[in-house]
Amino acid sequence: MTRSLDFGAAFYPEHWPESEWPRDIALMRAAGVTVARLGEFAWSTLEPDEGRYDFAWLDRALDLLAAAGIVSVLGTPTAAPPAWLTQRYPDTLATVDAQGHRDAHGARCHYCVNSSLYHEKSAAIAGAMAEHFGRRPDVIGWQIDNEYNRVCYCATCRAKFQAFVRARFDDLGTVNRRWATAYWSQTYQSWDQIAPPAHAVSNPGLVLAWREFVTESYRLFQHEQVTAIRAHVAPEVWITHNFMKWFDAFDHYEMSAELDLASWDWYEPSGWTDRIPSGAMHDLVRGYKRRNFWLMETQPGHVNWARTNFDLQPGQARAWAWHAIGHGADAVLYWQWRMALNGQEQMHGSLVDQAGEPRPFYAEAQAVGGELAQAREALAGTCVQARVAVLYDFPSRWLIDNQRHHGDFDYVEHLLRAYRALAGRNITVDVISPDVDLTGYGVVIAPALALFTPERVARLTEFAQHGHLVLGPRTGSRDSAAALWPERPPAGLHALAGCEVEEYIALAEPVRIEGDVSGQADVWAERLKVRAPEAQVLARYSAGNAWLAGQPAIVRRDTAGGSVTTLGGQFDTPTLETALAPLLALAGIAPVLETPPGVEALRRVGEAGQDVVIVINHTATPQTIQAPAGRVDELTGAATAGALTLGAFGVAVLSAT
Ligand SMILES: [Zn+2]
Repeated sequence: MTRSLDFGAAFYPEHWPESEWPRDIALMRAAGVTVARLGEFAWSTLEPDEGRYDFAWLDRALDLLAAAGIVSVLGTPTAAPPAWLTQRYPDTLATVDAQGHRDAHGARCHYCVNSSLYHEKSAAIAGAMAEHFGRRPDVIGWQIDNEYNRVCYCATCRAKFQAFVRARFDDLGTVNRRWATAYWSQTYQSWDQIAPPAHAVSNPGLVLAWREFVTESYRLFQHEQVTAIRAHVAPEVWITHNFMKWFDAFDHYEMSAELDLASWDWYEPSGWTDRIPSGAMHDLVRGYKRRNFWLMETQPGHVNWARTNFDLQPGQARAWAWHAIGHGADAVLYWQWRMALNGQEQMHGSLVDQAGEPRPFYAEAQAVGGELAQAREALAGTCVQARVAVLYDFPSRWLIDNQRHHGDFDYVEHLLRAYRALAGRNITVDVISPDVDLTGYGVVIAPALALFTPERVARLTEFAQHGHLVLGPRTGSRDSAAALWPERPPAGLHALAGCEVEEYIALAEPVRIEGDVSGQADVWAERLKVRAPEAQVLARYSAGNAWLAGQPAIVRRDTAGGSVTTLGGQFDTPTLETALAPLLALAGIAPVLETPPGVEALRRVGEAGQDVVIVINHTATPQTIQAPAGRVDELTGAATAGALTLGAFGVAVLSAT
């Protein structure tokens, strides 16, 4: 049977005497927990000395959980190498900077990702665990490592980077040409002269290749564990990794290719959240595999690792759980179940305290667990269906971060402007790679898609024949080696767009635009030049910046069955809403529901077309919406039609009657 809406927490039985486990598991059961995550970080307990495994304790913990009806996800413990390993093989520790400083034991993710010995030891423990636990029916999935986050600069990594560049470009002449190394006398005469980027400003080609190398390093590290596990588990058992929020050290699409399920860890140390960035992150993670994902960790109240760790308000975690589910999460797990008596995260939020007693947050988690049980059947087999896509591209982000030009031009913030103009109005959005099939979308937005390849140009050209394509500023300027295309942006799309970028301006002050679309740009503006007589200038820059005054700011050209709109500036959300509204109307795309600000409406759709609308009040004050007719709230059983008031952080899960 397909599982639906799993609910749980990370459980570390190795922190506690076995006599404590039954009480913990009874409290889990009472909270509606359906899944526990175990094993990650437990390497020193699972393999107390080299080659000597001790899995019996974990079997006993899994048995107790299974007896309580709780399934498990096992993490491979490779984020936390044991002391015997790092002492015996110090080369497995990462070199933390380009100056050669080596990390020390006692942290996590501090291994050299290219150490062949670390690969061997990691694959060995992953394989041994899979061989031992892989056929247990209660182990439904595996998580490789934890929150990959380190970059290593050791001699091994340097040599492997050189081999990577060599395999990528074939000959040194090509590297020198495509990286334009004659600039500042960087010309390479031999492969061993190529080093990881070590300066605040490094050659963009070198920076891009290094990021691609880091991606490939983690992909290979992950691949060895995936292979070791797959050899022993049933086909329906999935493998995932828990990624982090907006993390960009590697390309997450590449890393997700071999995984069965995408998952991520969502934390907000401020305790407060704007639903737009977190919604975009959920949508991005859903885009890694283009299907439902797991929220593998989220905070039970507060975290412990920020300078100040504020709590969520009562009810807010419930809103967060439904926010994740509405965006496509099929599971919500808290980190962690019980406070550890000692260790780096001893002050982190949890459901159960150091005495084994439920903390105040436990009651809220228990309520969430109960609600998920109530809605489990209605949401089984449902997923998010969007007709608008926002393209998120890791290489374009790296290129822009390496050459921001305006210090306040932030790739993610820029993308969120477009996302907010849609999701803020309850328009369902996919956040996806520019390298996937765009069939089925009515509107596709490419904010700051700096990197253009011939394949990307072909894909966008094909899409614009029948859909509405929106190109944001900084799009289409660089090639796959980070070089400028020797033509004006958007390279390869001038004819289609009917315009090109003739200058870019870092704005000291916001500038107004006027025309069919009126509004404001800040931080960044591009002066567009119209190249096709049929292209329409939808807005021109007003006075205020002499290079821009009177020049085209937004240009649209219609195609046979669609259009291309080129946005010259980083516009604010109201301006983008105005610019996008006619395109959404042409594509027949409407909001899930009209709601007051602070109230979010999301929709999941089943295979038979039945839908469930999830409405969330993200504010601390009651809000009233107009509920659609013919619906029943799965959480209360009440039929809804007309005015529906949601209390502070209130939620309604409306299925069709
Ligand atoms: Zn290394």
